[in-house]
Amino acid sequence: MAVLDQLTSQQAIALEDQYGAHNYHPLPVVLSRGEGVYVWDVEGKKYYDFLSAYSAVNQGHCHPRIVGALTEQAQKLTLTSRAFYNDMLGRYEEFACNYFGFDKLLPMNTGAEAVETALKICRKWAYEVKGIDENEAEIVVCKNNFHGRTTTIISFSNDPVARKNFGPYTDGFIKIDYDNLEALEETLKSNPKVAGFLVEPIQGEAGVYVPSKGYLSKAKALCEAYGVLFIADEVQTGVARTGKLLAVNHENVTPDILILGKAMSGGVYPVSAVLANDDVMKVIKPGTHGSTFGGNPLAAAVAMAALEVVKDEQLAENAERLGDLFRSELDKYIQTSQIVNLVRGKGLLNAIVINDDEESETAWNICLKLRDNGLLAKPTHGNIIRFAPPLVMTEEQLLDCVSIIIETLKEFES
Ligand code: PLP
Repeated sequence: MAVLDQLTSQQAIALEDQYGAHNYHPLPVVLSRGEGVYVWDVEGKKYYDFLSAYSAVNQGHCHPRIVGALTEQAQKLTLTSRAFYNDMLGRYEEFACNYFGFDKLLPMNTGAEAVETALKICRKWAYEVKGIDENEAEIVVCKNNFHGRTTTIISFSNDPVARKNFGPYTDGFIKIDYDNLEALEETLKSNPKVAGFLVEPIQGEAGVYVPSKGYLSKAKALCEAYGVLFIADEVQTGVARTGKLLAVNHENVTPDILILGKAMSGGVYPVSAVLANDDVMKVIKPGTHGSTFGGNPLAAAVAMAALEVVKDEQLAENAERLGDLFRSELDKYIQTSQIVNLVRGKGLLNAIVINDDEESETAWNICLKLRDNGLLAKPTHGNIIRFAPPLVMTEEQLLDCVSIIIETLKEFES
């Protein structure tokens, strides 16, 4: 078969099954085209994308301005490595630092790499600025976190599937309950070797857990009081997803270290970044950290276009407005529903909790039915379905999606 022959869905799935490592369990739908809030499968059926590649495609599929920046830059210069300067990286760094309000940016490619980078910066800061004895620094993390898949990151995960048989694990992490300020204060008070607190402003993968109002601002204040870096992992929540540019903006918190990925590029190209002020970022010196592709000119051009789109098209405002509408429409339905317990979220990062036990197949079966009815979503954990459409959605499209979701749920009411 020639490489570019059109495959059927069955053929595409069979190829992945035979030749690809089985590290995912995708919903059986094979996509070959995307535009805005829509994707099409290889047979030509059209769907609303209600996952946005785990919030990477906030700006909508194949946004012409972002794809335009990609193709224009691709014809000039794509990669220099950091052995040499290129004429795009500095421009992008200045642009993103002004955009997010930090002194400096360290460019990487994937979310997990950016998290690793932040952990390394935090540890180095602990030894070189805070004065903790070498190899003694601890970083506080939250139970049920999701920060990626590297060996160090899974060392402080409590997802048994993500961890099992990948040990030995990396030391130096203290796990506390999410959304629990007493636990944070107790840990900081009793442990002078804590260098940082790594937190997701909303726990996305865990099932879109929104912490109590005031949690982030009070956690930041505790970190300040104990001389600990507040590290916000906004890989999923950042770049307008939750109705503000950053989810920490809901509580006027400025992290000491900000981790971004996914929608930094509108899903067009892997771009991630760590931002911090000079007092923290100064610990990074030549040779201490790097990546061949991090900061390449193609990524720089794409990220600038992606961030411009977010501002110019007021995607945060749209996410906030449509998110409120989404939750209020679903809330009305849930009042009489046997199959859904609740809807929760912020902006256009939402989830519904299915009224069934965690091991049941109900959420998966609902997602299969949603697919048949023209909307793509995926369970996060067990009985929770995440709903995260591109932020370029219109109100009319959102209401259309609400009715698809409700009509689908009705098929599962007993
Ligand atoms: N951090 C958070 C909060 C995430 O949600 C994710 C991915 O879902 C990551 C980090 C890892 O990003 P990546 O898959 O690009 O490595």
